[in-house]
Amino acid sequence: MNQKSKKVNRNPFPEEILNLPVTKCPYCESEHFVKYGKYINVPRYRCKSCKRTFLPTSGSSLHYINKKEKFLKLFELIKVGEVLTVKRISEKFEISI
Ligand SMILES: [Zn+2]
Repeated sequence: MNQKSKKVNRNPFPEEILNLPVTKCPYCESEHFVKYGKYINVPRYRCKSCKRTFLPTSGSSLHYINKKEKFLKLFELIKVGEVLTVKRISEKFEISI
């Protein structure tokens, strides 16, 4: 439906994500984590409590981006005239009403 989405993007993380402050582990909410290398161009962190690694995009900010993409898809659907109820939208995009 959206041909532009197939474009290869070598830098999938925009500046606004790279500069997100990381204050706690998105898994266990521990504040004890250390820098753990990089993922593409994003600093990676490792939680000392649950031993899991995460990125600044993990947790709520990632959900924010996902929703942003979903809303963009939604606008595409509206443009092509697909009739959508709130319930169908929430089912289709797995977001809460
Ligand atoms: Zn943790």
